[in-house]
Amino acid sequence: MPIKFIMATATPLFTPRHVAVIGAGAGGLVAARELRREGHQVVVFERGDQVGGSWVYTTEVESDPIGLDPKRRVVHSSLYNSLRTNLPRESMGFRDYPFRRKEGKERDSRRFPSHREVLKYLQDFAADFEINDSVRLHTEVVYAGVEEGGKWTVRSKSIHRDCVDEIYDAVVVCNGHYFQPRLPHIPGINSWPGKQMHSHNYRTPEPFQDQVVVLIGGAASAVDISRDVATVAKEVHVAARTVEEDKLGKLPGRDNIWLHSMIDSVHEDGTVVFLDGNAVIADFIVHCTGYKYEFPFLETNRVVTVDDSRVGPLYKHVFPPALAPWLSFVGLPWKVVPFPLFELQSKWIAGVLSNRIALPSEEEMIEDIEAFYLSLESSCTPKSHTHNLGMNLAQWDYNNWIAAQCGVSAMEEWRQQMYIATSKNRLTRPETYRDEWDDDDLVLQAEQEFANYEI
Ligand code: FAD
Repeated sequence: MPIKFIMATATPLFTPRHVAVIGAGAGGLVAARELRREGHQVVVFERGDQVGGSWVYTTEVESDPIGLDPKRRVVHSSLYNSLRTNLPRESMGFRDYPFRRKEGKERDSRRFPSHREVLKYLQDFAADFEINDSVRLHTEVVYAGVEEGGKWTVRSKSIHRDCVDEIYDAVVVCNGHYFQPRLPHIPGINSWPGKQMHSHNYRTPEPFQDQVVVLIGGAASAVDISRDVATVAKEVHVAARTVEEDKLGKLPGRDNIWLHSMIDSVHEDGTVVFLDGNAVIADFIVHCTGYKYEFPFLETNRVVTVDDSRVGPLYKHVFPPALAPWLSFVGLPWKVVPFPLFELQSKWIAGVLSNRIALPSEEEMIEDIEAFYLSLESSCTPKSHTHNLGMNLAQWDYNNWIAAQCGVSAMEEWRQQMYIATSKNRLTRPETYRDEWDDDDLVLQAEQEFANYEI
């Protein structure tokens, strides 16, 4: 029987709660939908002027291009103008709201579309599930703290009014984790005379015209930005931790991009020395070195802390045992396919809050977390990789475990196969993987399944 596209109507009511969702990005939107489907009463707080979170592109950048000044006005989005998704749309979309190709002047029907199309998809999602009614735009949560008795005070301020305190049964944190730059330690950087920028503040290549640029990082945005910058720069030198020795040197097919090992040190005369012994005199360093988790509004009396990018202790990256289920987090895992994972986390939270799904006891959750931390230590995984689910395809086991808790079907096999196929394709065709691929059979499987969802 075809699975029907379900609108945001309240389904069987268990114990309805009054829930504050912080953030209206992909995580907050799907959390709101799942909570409302379960019958909860939801308010979504969003400090921006529209829904979509990271996918709301802006030309605005921060006053401190490397994000060290704590007083700077934070710009949320880290998107650059030329960004296209690094995941194919079929696997990227929510499970029951396929990210379909839409024809039309304003639409981008490519398989790996531009960021503008992702924003439209999220806006469509919010409209189709009538989530906008629950969203308070221009409203920043400045404090969310647990009170005696277990209720939560949420203090918000908006452009329309000063701070207001409200009481909620539960708080779901969906504030994103791609807006607080993380910088590497580079010996000599304080007296290096050139300019610096974190990729958070990269929008277009123009500022790099005729410059010698060193770009640090090996992940997707480093690959994209180095190619973008190379269209105008004199030279681009990419320093990455994981470059194979035979790949060091000039990038094949490019006359102004070089690959290097990591930076060893930088010097007052502008020199950047790499660990492989090479050196260049550079004008600019661009740090594509990732982001930090931050929850400046959250007061848990130190029950939840952030230590070296480990947010913890959290049961399955979602619930702090001592405050479960009244505090939860959507979206902490990385190196994952985010939207469907957020969807499952949200279903789990909604079901647990209504008492439809049971959590283990606090002690059992703590034991599980301790065993998880021990397993990370024994495999020499750094603490900072606690929420990295990219290893050994851990995200699929994780998704399927949550799906089982929720009583919904496991993740479709084609999603995992497509993820593997895309990762391989990106390695072999780093320049063209968004336009050339070999997994049309998987696209067909996805489309056959999408036919079950009515829009
Ligand atoms: P966000 O989208 O960051 O949303 C968080 C929201 O919370 C924001 O709207 C913010 O304004 C709001 N907020 C924060 N603090 C407060 C507060 N105190 N009060 C009120 N509101 C608050 N994913 C993919 O699936 N495919 C891709 O191709 C892809 N490419 C990416 C490229 C880049 C450069 C980056 C940075 C990320 C990319 N991602 C990609 C990951 C992307 O971030 C996730 O897909 C997803 O959009 C994250 O959603 P989120 O809801 O967790 O966070």
